[in-house]
Amino acid sequence: MSHAHDPRHAPERYCSQCGGRLDAATPPRCTACGRKCWQDPKVAACCIVEREGRLLLLRRGIEPSIGLWTLPGGYVDRGETVHGAAARETLEETGLAVQPGALVGVYSYPGVPVAVVVYAARSEAGEARALDETLEVRWVAPDELPWGELAFPSTGHALEDYLGSRERRAPVR
Ligand SMILES: [Zn+2]
Repeated sequence: MSHAHDPRHAPERYCSQCGGRLDAATPPRCTACGRKCWQDPKVAACCIVEREGRLLLLRRGIEPSIGLWTLPGGYVDRGETVHGAAARETLEETGLAVQPGALVGVYSYPGVPVAVVVYAARSEAGEARALDETLEVRWVAPDELPWGELAFPSTGHALEDYLGSRERRAPVR
């Protein structure tokens, strides 16, 4: 996920303590009370769910990147575990109960306020369906992945890492 146009990532403009206007410094300083207002990054958590050799992708129903394909996942709430958020978001978006397992990778980019944590997850049973903020869900074979229609750079990077590591683990013939 990269979220340059996500309104939740717009810089804060007002002091969280007194409501005064913030200046343009890093970190911004309140022009009324002088408080430094640090702006923390956000953390998102996603799952690569595999079943019978296919990977679960979903088509986004909201901006940014509406209509493009991504992994199930979303923002980690404060106080929530990262793997717990990956499971919760996958359940909310697809109805599938999953167990996030091995870490695929952590994806962050200069100028982007979100760090994305991606887990490999398995789901043995249950139908995936398009729920919250999702237009469509699909189980996609690795050689049919829509590389040109992925929602975010991290989506592609995580899929590359997942497929690459799976190939490296494959037995030598
Ligand atoms: Zn202030």
